[in-house]
Amino acid sequence: MTARERIYLFDTTLRDGAQTNGVDFTLGDKLTIAKMLDDLGIDYVEGGYPGANPTDTQLFAEDRNLGATFTAFGMTRRPGRSTSNDPGLAALLEAKADAICFVAKSWDYHVRVALETTPEENLASIRDSVGAAVATGREVLLDCEHFFDGYKANPQFALACAKAGYDQGARWIVLCDTNGGALPHEVETVVGEVIKLIPGDHVGIHAHNDTEQAVANSLAAVRAGARQIQGTLNGLGERCGNANLVSIIPTLKLKPEFADRFEIGVSDAQLKSLAHASHTLDEMLNRAPNRHAPYVGESAFATKAGIHASAIMKDPATYEHVSPDRVGNRRKLLVSDQAGKSNVLAELERIGLKVDKDDARIMQLLDVVKEREAIGYAYEAADASFELLARRVLGKVPNYFDVEKFDVNIEQRDNAVGQRVTVSLAVVKVKVDGETLISAAEGIGPVNALDLALRKDLGKYQGYINGLELTDYRVRILNGGTEAVTRVLIESQDESGERWTTVGVSPNIIDASFQALMDSIVYKLVRAGAPV
Ligand SMILES: [Zn+2]
Repeated sequence: MTARERIYLFDTTLRDGAQTNGVDFTLGDKLTIAKMLDDLGIDYVEGGYPGANPTDTQLFAEDRNLGATFTAFGMTRRPGRSTSNDPGLAALLEAKADAICFVAKSWDYHVRVALETTPEENLASIRDSVGAAVATGREVLLDCEHFFDGYKANPQFALACAKAGYDQGARWIVLCDTNGGALPHEVETVVGEVIKLIPGDHVGIHAHNDTEQAVANSLAAVRAGARQIQGTLNGLGERCGNANLVSIIPTLKLKPEFADRFEIGVSDAQLKSLAHASHTLDEMLNRAPNRHAPYVGESAFATKAGIHASAIMKDPATYEHVSPDRVGNRRKLLVSDQAGKSNVLAELERIGLKVDKDDARIMQLLDVVKEREAIGYAYEAADASFELLARRVLGKVPNYFDVEKFDVNIEQRDNAVGQRVTVSLAVVKVKVDGETLISAAEGIGPVNALDLALRKDLGKYQGYINGLELTDYRVRILNGGTEAVTRVLIESQDESGERWTTVGVSPNIIDASFQALMDSIVYKLVRAGAPV
């Protein structure tokens, strides 16, 4: 087998993806996502725009210890200024980044109208800025903005911009379809022209999705010789989004036309975490994952009954273009109870619960799961709650303690110094081993107060839950209108770093939270093997 060529993946979820309406990453979010991208095997993580806002400035103030090339984004020097007299460029050069990605105009019309300068000054700005960054020892990328539109209007000028960056030592010249209107055959033609001047292993593609072809355009660029693809997780990005790396990665890995010729930094094992990464980002954004997302959506491998399902039972290849487990997804067979049963059996095996496949309780568990999912429980997202449900149906969850009652009060009043404050107080009455324990706690909100009171004194079980900590709390309103129910997902962590997610559903947010909190505590006791 001949050596395969390397394609580099560049993620801009934290920069271009952060442009999305309603998306506002905190510093913590950015660090979490950067780590996730690094774990996935992405080559370049573009963190943001240091100097443009406090979050990004802070992000680039310290090293993040990632394997990926952490990249800062910013503009080339402003027209009429020198590189040493441009604060924006200075902030970029000072950023703690492994690489610097400049964005520069490559469409003469934009140079004239938006930048109000001359083509010559635009080229000089590219040369000076790339040169200054290369001189700091950093890897440099040049994003040629509006490259495809610019090429159509004035190919000589567009190519001159790209070439100016390359000649100054930029590692990558990235061709951007900024308005997202280019079509795959155009991209293939234009990239073909560019690589006559700049070797393809120095050319990247940055496609927006305005004709829903950002993925196709990225692949077309690769066919024409480009060797870097820029995109975002789940195609996040303003307007219609950016090229979706979650679709591009498995296509490069699993489709022979690409897989036989190219390799990427994502290993087979990392590919299996793709669905999880995609869903984690959605959860962070408090969005419902797209059920119909290619490769990773809940419905991507869901086949509805009848002859399809029975053929899939015989051989999955009959109705699947790739095997779902390659990307960390699961096959779903709907309607047929027989198929649902095999799904449940597979889940039980994953958890490590041994049960005979003809055990009647499996159908019982399946019925309970279906019933509860119909009213809003999400067991795919709440692994720990599913495990508890399964153990309960199989009679394997001890009754450690009973919550006899709880009471949550919210009071708004003036405090001692005359400020208006809202205070939450929870009182919980628990029966452990025949003994009644009453605990009260104040919290920053009713759920926090309830959580603190519940975990304050569990008698002989207290030692097992001391290290328990809530790490995330997410609320989603289902249905809408007056019939709305609330789903609460709680992520917990223990002293060993193990994390699990539990779910509660109720028309009442406190009740939904209580269910999820209880599941979290009981799950911890089960896992710790607490004696009854
Ligand atoms: Zn963009």
